[in-house]
Amino acid sequence: MCRQFFDEPLSLHTSFRIGGPARLFLVPKSVEQMLCALKLYPGAKLLGKGTNVLAPDEGVDVVISTLGLSNFLFDGDLLISDAGVLLSKLCVESAERGLSGLELLYGIPGTIGGAILMNAGAYGAQIADVVEWVECFDGEQMRILHRSQLEFSYRDSVFKKRNWLVLRACLRLTKSDPEAVRSKMEKIMKKRLETQPLDLPSAGSFFKRPHSNFYVGKAIEQLGLKGFRIGDAQISTKHAGFIVNLGSATAKDVIALAQTVKQLVEKHFNVVLEPEVDIW
Ligand SMILES: Cc1cc2nc3c(=O)[nH]c(=O)nc-3n(C[C@H](O)[C@H](O)[C@H](O)COP(=O)(O)OP(=O)(O)OC[C@H]3O[C@@H](n4cnc5c(N)ncnc54)[C@H](O)[C@@H]3O)c2cc1C
Repeated sequence: MCRQFFDEPLSLHTSFRIGGPARLFLVPKSVEQMLCALKLYPGAKLLGKGTNVLAPDEGVDVVISTLGLSNFLFDGDLLISDAGVLLSKLCVESAERGLSGLELLYGIPGTIGGAILMNAGAYGAQIADVVEWVECFDGEQMRILHRSQLEFSYRDSVFKKRNWLVLRACLRLTKSDPEAVRSKMEKIMKKRLETQPLDLPSAGSFFKRPHSNFYVGKAIEQLGLKGFRIGDAQISTKHAGFIVNLGSATAKDVIALAQTVKQLVEKHFNVVLEPEVDIW
C-alpha cells in the first residue's frame, strides 16, 4: 500500500518552503501503486523534489509524490532510472563509473522525472542531450517513447504539453575518465555557489529566458530591482533571476512580486516574461 499522510504541509516538500497542506499526500513505492493512486485520484498534483513548484497558501486536495520510485541501474554506458531519483545522485553515480554526459547538470536539485518533464538545463547542456527513451503513463496506458518522440525544446517536452507522467528513463552516457568527470562537476558546483543564492529557499530561476540573447536576471538588475521585496518574497541580491523566501513568504507574496517584475520588464524592454516555476 502507498504511504499516506493527511494535511501534510507542502512547505516541507518544496524548495521555496511555501505551500499549505495537501489534504492527502501519497507516496507510492512502485509503478503499480503509482498507477493505482492515479486512477483513484486523476486530478492529483504530481510532485518530485518540489524544486520547481510554487504551491498555494491554501493547500491542495491530493498530491502524489514520485520520490518512492527510487531505483536505478547501469548497463554499460546506459543508465536506467526511475523518475523519483535525484539528478544529482545520478551525476555522482555516473562520475564514479567514469561516465560523462551529466556533469553540466550537476547541482540541479530535482528528480530525473522533473528534469525530463521540463527539459532541465544549465551551462549549455540539457537533459534532452542524453535521454534515449522514456517510459510514461498517458492517463490510460503505459508507453515507451523513443527520444525522437519526446518533443524536447527549451524547458518543454511532450510530457509537459500533454500532462503525462514520467515513470522511468534511459540515458545514454559516454565512457570517460572518472577524475575528469568529477573535476568538471566540481567546477560547475563552484560556479553555482558563487552566482546563486543557495543559502535561501527558492525555486531556481523564476522566469524562463524569453529568447536566447535576453538575460532575465541582468534585465531585472538593470531595473534596480535587486533586493526589492513584497512581504518576505525578495528578488535575490545575489542573482536577480531568483525570487527567494526570506523566512515567511507566502505564495501570494511571490506571485505579487513576480507580477510587478513582469510588468516592469514588459514596460522597459518590451519583453513578456513567463514563469519557469510551475504555479499550482
Ligand atoms: C537552487 C535551484 C537551482 C536550480 N537550477 C536549475 C537549473 O540550473 N536548470 C534547470 O533547468 N532548473 C533548475 N532548477 C529548477 C528545478 O530544480 C528543475 O526544474 C528540476 O528539474 C525540477 O525537478 P523536481 O523533481 O524538483 O520537480 P518538481 O518541482 O517536484 O515538479 C515540477 C513539475 O514537474 C512535474 N513533475 C515532477 N515529476 C514528474 C514526473 N515524474 N512526471 C511528470 N511530471 C512530473 C510536477 O507536477 C511539476 O509540475 C533549480 C531549482 C533550484 C531550487
